[in-house]
Amino acid sequence: MDIKTVGVIGAGTMGNGIAHVFAKSGYKVVLCDIEQRFLDRGFDTIKKNLEREVGKNKITADQRDAALKAIQPVTDRSALAACDFIVEAASEKLEIKTEIFKDLDRLCRPEVILSSNTSSISITKIAAITKRPDKVIGMHFFNPVPMMKLVEIIRGLATSDETYQTVKALTEKLEKTPVEVNDAPGFVSNRVLMPLINEAIYTVMEGVATPQAVDEVFKLGMAHPMGPLALADFIGLDVCLDIMRVMLDGLGDPKYRPCPLLIKMVDAGWLGKKSGRGFYTY
Ligand code: NAD
Repeated sequence: MDIKTVGVIGAGTMGNGIAHVFAKSGYKVVLCDIEQRFLDRGFDTIKKNLEREVGKNKITADQRDAALKAIQPVTDRSALAACDFIVEAASEKLEIKTEIFKDLDRLCRPEVILSSNTSSISITKIAAITKRPDKVIGMHFFNPVPMMKLVEIIRGLATSDETYQTVKALTEKLEKTPVEVNDAPGFVSNRVLMPLINEAIYTVMEGVATPQAVDEVFKLGMAHPMGPLALADFIGLDVCLDIMRVMLDGLGDPKYRPCPLLIKMVDAGWLGKKSGRGFYTY
């Protein structure tokens, strides 16, 4: 099937970035969120980010205008019935995604692939909610979406080769690099990254080093552009905690036990950059 119109569900951090890259690559985008104010905020972010690309001579003013014109913000999900491909990027809650995928399965034409940008929820489980498990797949973009090249493509147990090949080709059209992984808690990116962050938090809790010192070790010693604690603040400490819990639950190995300091900081509402305080203040 020729994919021309893409439905993006959720206009938050990831959803607006995903709408941005599809629109910039010539696709029509139907961007859906539950309230107009979330759509307005997402659309403003897209405008600002496209403007920055014009300022850096990465795109022309005409390309910016065409991309903005290609995005149709909607609160009524029935507008997604016209879409040829879906990326779901709503909040990371199983009950929210369950409701959305049930409805998408009813709304979208049977041949339409339904993808999810979930960071940790099982693609196999999401697929089983629908009557088209062979056409459900993980399309895991990275933040900030317009800048990051990687898309981790997650095959659920029932995902067909045809679906995988379509999503791989689509990723390349967005000028991003697909990496194929099988469905498992945390996939590859978070399975490896989150225990690193969690262990870095243990070193702070045990007084081995300050957050600044831990981050310096990784920036200068391992050439990471950002240390693990600054990265945790950027991702959101609540998100890090949720992912550790999904891995502990799904893999059953105590090595995924969330650090008590991480739990305490989330309880305090110190969620990192988005709340103004985490390992650093913003
Ligand atoms: P966010 O909170 O910034 O945005 C989520 C958006 O979804 C909100 O605007 C919310 O109003 C909307 N939403 C909630 N329920 C909805 C519904 N029923 N229909 C339509 N919209 C709905 O979250 P985010 O950081 O953009 O994360 C979105 C998804 O992307 C999650 O699955 C998350 O795990 C994943 N993800 C996040 C990151 C990251 O760094 N933030 C990276 C990779 C993947």
